[in-house]
Amino acid sequence: MPQSPRDKSATRLICPLVAPDCAQMRVGMLAAAKAGADAVECRLDFLEIPPSRDKLTELLTDAPVEVIVTNRPVRHGGNFSDREDLRLKILHEAAAFQPTYIDIEMDVPPKDWPQAEIIVSHHDWQGPPADLDKVIRRMDSLPAAVNKVAFAAGGPEDAVAALDVLRNCNRPTLALAMGEAGVVSRILARKFGAFGTFAALGSGDESAPGQPTIEEMKNLYRWDSIGPDTRVFGVIGCPVAHSMSPAIHNAAFEAAGYDGVYLPLLIQPGAENFNRSVDALLQRPWLDWRGLSVTIPHKENALAYVGDGDCDSLAVQIGAVNTLTIEPHGALKGDNTDYAAAIDALCDAMKISPSDLQGRRVAVIGAGGAARAIVAALAYYEAKITIYNRTVSRAKRLGEEFACEAAGLDEAHNTDAEILINCTSVGMHPNVKSSPLDSIPKSVIVVFDTIYNPVRTRLLELAGSAGCTCVTGLDMFVNQGARQFEIWTDRPAPLEVMRGVVMENLHR
Ligand code: NAP
Repeated sequence: MPQSPRDKSATRLICPLVAPDCAQMRVGMLAAAKAGADAVECRLDFLEIPPSRDKLTELLTDAPVEVIVTNRPVRHGGNFSDREDLRLKILHEAAAFQPTYIDIEMDVPPKDWPQAEIIVSHHDWQGPPADLDKVIRRMDSLPAAVNKVAFAAGGPEDAVAALDVLRNCNRPTLALAMGEAGVVSRILARKFGAFGTFAALGSGDESAPGQPTIEEMKNLYRWDSIGPDTRVFGVIGCPVAHSMSPAIHNAAFEAAGYDGVYLPLLIQPGAENFNRSVDALLQRPWLDWRGLSVTIPHKENALAYVGDGDCDSLAVQIGAVNTLTIEPHGALKGDNTDYAAAIDALCDAMKISPSDLQGRRVAVIGAGGAARAIVAALAYYEAKITIYNRTVSRAKRLGEEFACEAAGLDEAHNTDAEILINCTSVGMHPNVKSSPLDSIPKSVIVVFDTIYNPVRTRLLELAGSAGCTCVTGLDMFVNQGARQFEIWTDRPAPLEVMRGVVMENLHR
């Protein structure tokens, strides 16, 4: 089979093959090439029995893409647990088939290396080595073609440490931070001209924690369009793996023809963790980091980080920032797009402008974070608000802060409000049969449920039957992302594309 042509200067998408026998590994190789991988890494240490010469022939002859052969020992996090001389013997046998590269660990003396193009590697499962510079200098002194350094990431700052290595390298280099917090290093490898990055064939086929799949790289993170000038965005949260924001924003960038990429950033709870990670991003202007969405549990930390003076005044009153913008000259500002998104959703459905909310009676059910953002915005527009909550004391505290009425949830059916907004989680998937109210109070003509999964909640079904105008949490959810897109890019958001992505994710 001929080698497929590839741009030699572009960062390789390398698919690790971790099948238990050579035949299945070969099948994986063909599938990886078809899926768009530029290279495969045959992980011989995953084979259940050491490969015979015939099996190596079957695996390595006429490969459709570049091949890296690796036989990682247990001491470096691999699976090969037999004697070192046997491990090296297998690598020497594989070298006879002239794979494109053979990966060999830095602690193996060069005299034992096979005759092949070498990737010299070092793995650290504790975190970035304290002497990372020394490790790289030692690699540079060895007769290899490529350096590879991989270490466990405690936070995004460790992913950025891997990118520092790429910026300063003297030869083609792979520098990766492993684990969910290190994903940034894997995706931005292309922006910084790495030798390659690893992407699994499918979920469950990863050779190290944090590897996205080829499909995610290509379709979610827009791998093929990432270049040196790509602007970088992301969502900070814990957990963050479930977030739909990367899918929404990357699809929006694609639709708008905007050179940007949006990544997940796992930061453990606590202001200290937040500050350390965000400092690491902002101290490196060359990252081209332009915007960050912030979700649970870091919205208060984001406000404290930016400081009241550089945050939108309602965000300060709400006590939460969900959007950070890094201006091209480095200034940082904080916004809260949740409240504006809710007001937009409500006013669009009612065909009114926000100032028309003045004097309107609104019943807000719930007194948590979502309620707080919506109450602050409604109070700003001078609506007449009553907060109803299961825990009455919490409703009263919120009511006192924003000068509105407060009562227990059981009193909500007596409301005289025309607008009713559910800000509790009652009715959210999987409890889709529950509703915070059994029936819609007579005075109510508009019902807004902030829940977006499901889109049509039990409360909205009741509202529809009662002839009310319905506003969905989906509208709010899409609007908050759209506002972020507009703040960051100064372009109109492709709303329908963003909505379509949310719907597709909800259906999955
Ligand atoms: P939160 O801070 O934890 O507040 C939860 C609220 O729900 C509290 O008022 C709580 O009452 C109430 N609650 C929970 N279980 C209840 C039950 N069994 N019976 C009665 N009340 C109950 O959560 P949050 O961040 O405000 O989020 C609340 C909802 O808003 C979520 O369902 C989320 O889907 C939605 N939301 C939507 C968007 C969007 O973009 N569409 C954005 C943010 C949030 P107590 O005070 O008595 O515990």
